[in-house]
Amino acid sequence: MDDKSVLASGLIEKIGETTSKHIYKTQAGKQEFNNPVPSHEDGLKQVVNLITDKVVGVIKEKSEIKAIGHRVVHGGEVFKKPCIIDNEVLKAVIENVPLAPLHNPANITGIEVAQKIFPAAIQVGVFDTAFHHTIPPRAFHYAVPLELYHKHKVRRYGFHGTSHHYVALQAAETLGKPLTETNLITVHIGNGASITAIKNGQSIDTSMGLTPLEGVIMGTRCGDIDPAIPHFLTAQTDMDIDDINDLLNKKSGVKGICGMNDFRDIHAAREKGDQKAQLAFEMYVYRIKKYIGAYSFALGQVDAIIFTAGIGENDDDVRREVCLGLDNFGIKIDVEKNEGRFSKITAIHQHDSEVKLFIIPTNEELMIATETNKLI
Ligand code: ADP
Repeated sequence: MDDKSVLASGLIEKIGETTSKHIYKTQAGKQEFNNPVPSHEDGLKQVVNLITDKVVGVIKEKSEIKAIGHRVVHGGEVFKKPCIIDNEVLKAVIENVPLAPLHNPANITGIEVAQKIFPAAIQVGVFDTAFHHTIPPRAFHYAVPLELYHKHKVRRYGFHGTSHHYVALQAAETLGKPLTETNLITVHIGNGASITAIKNGQSIDTSMGLTPLEGVIMGTRCGDIDPAIPHFLTAQTDMDIDDINDLLNKKSGVKGICGMNDFRDIHAAREKGDQKAQLAFEMYVYRIKKYIGAYSFALGQVDAIIFTAGIGENDDDVRREVCLGLDNFGIKIDVEKNEGRFSKITAIHQHDSEVKLFIIPTNEELMIATETNKLI
């Protein structure tokens, strides 16, 4: 941990299905296994076997693992910072399941399995919502009867907090200013996407809400829509509220417009003259621009706009179109510097741009490891 180098990394997909995919990477190379992984426990046992293997392993025995950092999607209002997971904490994460029914149960399984396989290790929860706990009431409340907040905790929570926090720390360092004196708009655009307004190092507003559905247009999520649309659709179609929820989360966004949710495919189609792909691209860029405008006013002064995640780091077309035409607001992109994909911090503004523009590759794993290390 001292030099923050990555000994091994990996990914297991399709746990419980007939074909699973397990990728294991070390400095020696990458391996892929396709044997079925029936459960999360089996998956973690496979990981232990690999990392302690005599040939491809990176540690001698599993007791060398002193702590495990867990990304927990929804910390509700309880978790304002990372914390060691004890029974009380686990109970609170379970209580937050209604707020994140798709994510928190998987996170809880991960914690329970890790506790079983690594009983001596300290388990740490790092919450995706925690960085946004500083959002003031005027920005986190929805204008619905206040009792819905008191009874059901209906409010904006925001997500991708670990990423927004990580790139904000990197941005402040790059600008040579303390984070506590830095104002930023962080644009995390991957398949899921959110934008955060950061004032003096603290999140003061973010585009995702009670759930990750709100905000900018995403790969398959609609982002902001007229809230009356679900009711209208239940009246006009044979869809029920669950069908509509599925439609808005999985079949909308750029995919709903042009049938594709990977921007590499969208650009290839645009180049061939696909009008729907062009529309999806223009809608996507326009919504990001609106948020940057709104957050610039919320902040009053912006030191830098940060692009991160799959699209933010790799897609020069999106970055260019988001920033062009904003010279009057002190945002001047250098289109040549912007060209290409970037895996390290890169400035893409003109020398006289009042608002600096940076690509900062996110590293949520490093942030989780750093926070975990702090707690042990
Ligand atoms: P998430 O973590 O939300 O699943 P990522 O941050 O990994 O998503 O981003 C994935 C998305 O990044 C892809 O769907 C694709 O749209 C975009 N992306 C990845 N590589 C490129 C590229 N070379 N050019 C354009 N877009 C890219």
